[in-house]
Amino acid sequence: MTRLIVIGSGFGGLAAAVRLQARGFDVTLLEKRDKPGGRAYQFREGGYTFDCGPSIITAPDLLDDLFDTSGARREDYVTLVPLEPFYRIHFSDGRYFDYSGRSETVARELTKFEPEAVEAYHRFMAETGRIYERAFVDLAHQPFMTVPDFLKVLPELARLRADRSVYSFVSRFFRDPSLRMVFSFHPLFIGGNPFRASSIYSIVPYLERRGGVHFAMGGMYSLIEGLVRRFRELGGSLQCGTEVAEIEVRGGRAVAVRARDGRRWEADGVISNADVAWTYQELIAPRHRRKYTDRRIARLKHSMSCFLLYLGLDRQYDQLLHHTILMTDRYKGLIGDIFDRKILADDFSLYLHAPSKTDPSLAPPGGESLYILAPVPHLGARIDWTREARPYRDRILRFLEEEFGLDGLRASIKVERWFTPLDFKTELNAHLGSAFSIEPVLLQSAYFRPHNRSEDVERLYFVGAGTHPGAGLPGTLLSAEIAARLIGRDLGTANRVLNA
Ligand SMILES: Cc1cc2nc3c(=O)[nH]c(=O)nc-3n(C[C@H](O)[C@H](O)[C@H](O)COP(=O)(O)OP(=O)(O)OC[C@H]3O[C@@H](n4cnc5c(N)ncnc54)[C@H](O)[C@@H]3O)c2cc1C
Repeated sequence: MTRLIVIGSGFGGLAAAVRLQARGFDVTLLEKRDKPGGRAYQFREGGYTFDCGPSIITAPDLLDDLFDTSGARREDYVTLVPLEPFYRIHFSDGRYFDYSGRSETVARELTKFEPEAVEAYHRFMAETGRIYERAFVDLAHQPFMTVPDFLKVLPELARLRADRSVYSFVSRFFRDPSLRMVFSFHPLFIGGNPFRASSIYSIVPYLERRGGVHFAMGGMYSLIEGLVRRFRELGGSLQCGTEVAEIEVRGGRAVAVRARDGRRWEADGVISNADVAWTYQELIAPRHRRKYTDRRIARLKHSMSCFLLYLGLDRQYDQLLHHTILMTDRYKGLIGDIFDRKILADDFSLYLHAPSKTDPSLAPPGGESLYILAPVPHLGARIDWTREARPYRDRILRFLEEEFGLDGLRASIKVERWFTPLDFKTELNAHLGSAFSIEPVLLQSAYFRPHNRSEDVERLYFVGAGTHPGAGLPGTLLSAEIAARLIGRDLGTANRVLNA
């Protein structure tokens, strides 16, 4: 049987492991942490359950497809519920926008800001629908391994004006500054800067309306547990607490991996779901890297990081929906502080996740499980998180109490943890502590993004946020589908389950 090692059990690693095991390979999945999930880790404390990272499911059909191709039904593993509205976006002038998949709700909300925007919204959706067909259906499913692969799609990218930023694309439709924020902030979900991410990333509002925004009951971690269960049912082996320290390369080919504790696994192929930059720099000796040299890695633009606060509250707040976003009026300025000037600004844009609104089992009765996400610069900034975390946390909580009106927030905290860019580095082996890996700009997308099959080492493949097509659940799930296809082609094995 052909033996494969998958390094890392984030969504990309797990999805690849399920697909490959279902194809008939003998897959061993090695995970550094005590539990699988990566950025989608979950912890429980004092009766509260916290999903640590992803909270929004935008393309549920990709999850259905993953279970389906492994010969199972997603519904038998995890329950997804649609959210309505998707989220509420608050502005500093006190107004808010309920972002929804229902036309009448969207029309009502748009009219609050700009009466002509309803017609503009329909044009925007029609245009993003066209981009979706090209960028998501055609481009995101392709591996982009060679220059000719890429040249074939260049005219299409030119037609789509992929050189334009999401913000400038959105500004063609909406005049009101708040509406421009509402329809352009989505690249931040995948580590992109709306002012320079290519307009092909403006499809998220379309994706959301098409498939809805969903939540997994029991927390997003139910998806991880469901995938692990499916992987094991198919005969795969998962070993947690196992950090890979080296990918051994012989004759230009990946032949084995060695763990930090000395254990060694021979393999016919290796799939890395660990950060791409980290994999090349830390796991593969420089003499085997002609393209991804340390110099080239240093030139890659990495996306921002996040400061995350997980709070178990003994009360609930009506102001909070399942997803709540608080926008500063210094939209462009704050994003510039995070991505370019790399400073910790005095103001915030925050994302608040209160999953106990949808699934009360995630908090004790009458309480709330709340996570607060503040986008912050990655570790390329001169910010000492060992000193800054506490005062930054204090400022956020003061802001939420005094400016946003969550009265008594600090007094209601029963459980508290935080996760800083430094934790992204030490816990998840994220290069520069980036939360979303390589920044999605045009020159780091498709052919220009690290390929799903290594360009330096044979029989080495990549899945996850830093590789094509990119970060976020949809991107990482697609990366696994592409890698599984490439591996099937390269190592050829009889499909045990059709289409896996
Ligand atoms: C705070 C936050 C919120 C987000 N919200 C959303 C959202 O709502 N919706 C959405 O679609 N996306 C969201 N994203 C993005 C999405 O979560 C990620 O893009 C995706 O989960 C990354 O998956 P991945 O496959 O790249 O693996 P990761 O989750 O990065 O996992 C990689 C795994 O590899 C392991 N590893 C690393 N090095 C080694 C080694 N040497 N040996 C063994 N194991 C190793 C790590 O421990 C980790 O478990 C969010 C991300 C963050 C950080």
